Amino acid sequence: MKVEHILHTNGGVGKTSYANNSLLQRAVISMVKPIVGASIEELCCTLFPECLKVADLGRSSGPNTLLVVSDIINSIHTTYQKLNRPPPSLQAFLNDLPGNDFNAGFRSLPGFYKKLDEEHEKKFGSCFIAGMPGSFYGRLFPNNSLNFVHSSYALHWISEVPKGLLTEEEEGLNKGNIYIAKTSPPAVFKQYLEQFKRDFTVFLRSRAEELVPGGSMVLTITGSIKSHDPLCIWEFVGLKLNDMVLEGLIGKEKLDAFNMPFYTPTTKEIEEVIQAEGSFTLQNLEVLKNDWDSYIKQANSGLDKKTRAAIFATHIRAVAEPILASQFGEEAMDDLFPRFEEDVLDHMERENCQYINLVISLTKKR
Ligand code: SAH
Repeated sequence: MKVEHILHTNGGVGKTSYANNSLLQRAVISMVKPIVGASIEELCCTLFPECLKVADLGRSSGPNTLLVVSDIINSIHTTYQKLNRPPPSLQAFLNDLPGNDFNAGFRSLPGFYKKLDEEHEKKFGSCFIAGMPGSFYGRLFPNNSLNFVHSSYALHWISEVPKGLLTEEEEGLNKGNIYIAKTSPPAVFKQYLEQFKRDFTVFLRSRAEELVPGGSMVLTITGSIKSHDPLCIWEFVGLKLNDMVLEGLIGKEKLDAFNMPFYTPTTKEIEEVIQAEGSFTLQNLEVLKNDWDSYIKQANSGLDKKTRAAIFATHIRAVAEPILASQFGEEAMDDLFPRFEEDVLDHMERENCQYINLVISLTKKR
């Protein structure tokens, strides 16, 4: 099944909504801000565009929606102050799959424009924001029309679950797991890697057609240190689903046939695809490691470990619930996530649990 039919983050503004549970993604955007700033400065000083055209791919809805646009505007402003020139106008496209709640983001635009005028005392050129629904694994924009592409926490979603994971009898290759896990046979890792390579190649080729020569991209995704043992959060969610199968709460066939359309590549895998595709120069590939709960500690230093584990589990739920519920049913989710929460705490107490972010800066070859 294609990801676009099942993937969306939890909508609305409720307790488990993405809008209220995207603090982790927000912290990642802040970490990457200096890299985006440097890329924008470089672009402005080499291309001197009259109108800077940018796209934020896999933007979702909620408070993070306009954060990146706002960071880009600040970078443009600072750069042009240094250059002592009037800043260009900005056209920013917010992209996500067609099922995304675009209107939620659009409703906040009037307030955003007003704040912009106040902050920059009307000195910033003009800013025009538009939506662009569609999959980034394919073309979204006209040829040579973009200067800069940004994407945060979206490209680890692959376009579909690798078809080879389901054998003819519909018996899963990856029985009892929902992602690459220690008990997965090597063929599972190979299927995932091949799917990632195909998808990331299509992504690069599409963006190469859309960006002007010299245009650039900053892409942030979750990654792995070891390819075949990615130590991904889905391994832990899979273990809890397995417990529920053993207790007869979920059908075994449902778990055996399900896999996450997700892949956490290593830096080597990323470099190989970029090199083989050939349109981009890799400027920088940074690996940022963070404790599972470090962003929660940063936001509120007074919380104990149990509370931090609970918040982390709710954040994972906001991302994973729609896709897991489409396979296991809504009712199973209220059982699954409290179990997961207990497990998160247990892991945090026993080991140093970290997640890996890869920040990839690329320039389209001239
Ligand atoms: N960038 C946002 C949202 C991250 S959630 C943030 O940092 O807060 C990931 C988003 O990527 C989801 O909204 C999902 O719908 C979107 N996405 C996943 N695959 C996609 C695809 N092929 N094309 C466009 N958007 C996609």
